[in-house]
Amino acid sequence: MDNKHREFKTCPVCSSAKRLFETLAQAGRDKGTVNKEAKMAFGGARGSVFDQARASMILVGSTAPVYDVKTDICMECGCVYATDFTIGEGKVLPVGKADNLPPPPTKP
Ligand SMILES: [Zn+2]
Repeated sequence: MDNKHREFKTCPVCSSAKRLFETLAQAGRDKGTVNKEAKMAFGGARGSVFDQARASMILVGSTAPVYDVKTDICMECGCVYATDFTIGEGKVLPVGKADNLPPPPTKP
C-alpha cells in the first residue's frame, strides 16, 4: 500500500472552515501559550491493522497497514469530522505492533 495523506479543510455538512480546536489553538498562539507549529485536535487514532489472533505468526520486520487520523468539531454545526489522515505501511516491531508511519508529506 502506498502512503497517503489527505486533509479536509472544511466541514462536510455545512462547508464552514471554522473548527473548535483549531480556533482554541490560534487563541493560544496569540497568547504565546501554544507553539506556532502545534496542531490541536478533538481526537484521533493511530495504530496498525492486524488480527491479534495472528500476532504470533507475523514476522518481526514484515509490514502491516498503519494509520493516523485526527478529528475536530465544526463551530457552525457541531459536526465532528476527520481533518486529516495518513495511511501507509509500517514495520512490525518485536512487541507485535507496526507503528513507524512516515511523517506526512510537507506542503509546497
Ligand atoms: Zn459544519
